[in-house]
Amino acid sequence: MSGQEAKHLTWHAGAINRQDRERLNRHRGLTIWFTGLSASGKSTLAVATEAALYERGSHTYILDGDNVRHGLNKDLGFSPEDRSENIRRIGEVARLFTDCGIVILTAFISPYRRDRLFARELCGSDSFIEVFVDCPLDICEQRDPKGAYTRARKGIIREFTGISAPYEEPVDPEIRVCTSEQSVEACVQKILSYLEQKEFIPKQVKLVRR
Ligand code: ADP
Repeated sequence: MSGQEAKHLTWHAGAINRQDRERLNRHRGLTIWFTGLSASGKSTLAVATEAALYERGSHTYILDGDNVRHGLNKDLGFSPEDRSENIRRIGEVARLFTDCGIVILTAFISPYRRDRLFARELCGSDSFIEVFVDCPLDICEQRDPKGAYTRARKGIIREFTGISAPYEEPVDPEIRVCTSEQSVEACVQKILSYLEQKEFIPKQVKLVRR
């Protein structure tokens, strides 16, 4: 759309706002943004964190790398420009979910700091938790659950993050988990503890029988 066309559009306000939806859901809207190398454990942790949040009564949804590329972003490749556009669209979707009062968990390599910052600004910094899924490249390569590193080393996949395309590590993420050292359960617990501490989710009270 040209700037000229955009100028004639008017935002139509609704009767129900984010606070109303959050009151109905009994928790805040939030984006949990997992970033890290391929096979670092983003999808595994997003799935396990979602399950734990669901058990605590949170309304959740996962946006995952490959799934989004089958639909919303199927026209995009892996050039730096397309990767940025991929993240821009995901950021916009995350913003909508956050505004719905839902906890959205995104699992994308999202290799560029600039793009992650863009998503953070879209969703609002106070509703955006960046989780750096930290794992050394050689361990990711050993895991290689989809054989992607093998194909990248052979040059079959080009512009592969960590091999032939850069990954810019987060400088100051809200949470960092080391998946080569901590179990899935320990990583999830670290995320939940952070969310409790920041009052995104209520603390779990354990009743002790006397
Ligand atoms: P990504 O989404 O980052 O590409 P996946 O979650 O698809 O990565 O794959 C990560 C692999 O690493 C899985 O096979 C998972 O079982 C394994 N893994 C081992 N330890 C962990 C951990 N602590 N956290 C997450 N994944 C782990």
